[in-house]
Amino acid sequence: MTAEPKKAPWPKQSAELTAQGYVFSGRGVCKGCQRSIIWATTPKGNRMPLSSAGENSWQPHFTDCTQANRFRRHRPVRID
Ligand SMILES: [Zn+2]
Repeated sequence: MTAEPKKAPWPKQSAELTAQGYVFSGRGVCKGCQRSIIWATTPKGNRMPLSSAGENSWQPHFTDCTQANRFRRHRPVRID
C-alpha cells in the first residue's frame, strides 16, 4: 500500500514554492493580527498571504493567524 497524500504539506521552502510555480509578489500586513505577511501568487493564479514558518520557510497565513476566524472581514493589505 503506497497511498500518498494528495495535498502538499506545509510549510514549504521558498525554493520549493518557486519550483512549483508560486510567485512572491510583495510584502503586506494582516489587518486581523497585525503580523507581517508576504503575498504569493499560486500556480492557479490566486493570491495567497503567507507567513513565516522559519528560515526561508512559509505557510498559508490562514493556518496561523490568530484572527483567522475573522479573516474574511480583515483581509491582509499590501504595503509595498
Ligand atoms: Zn493574521
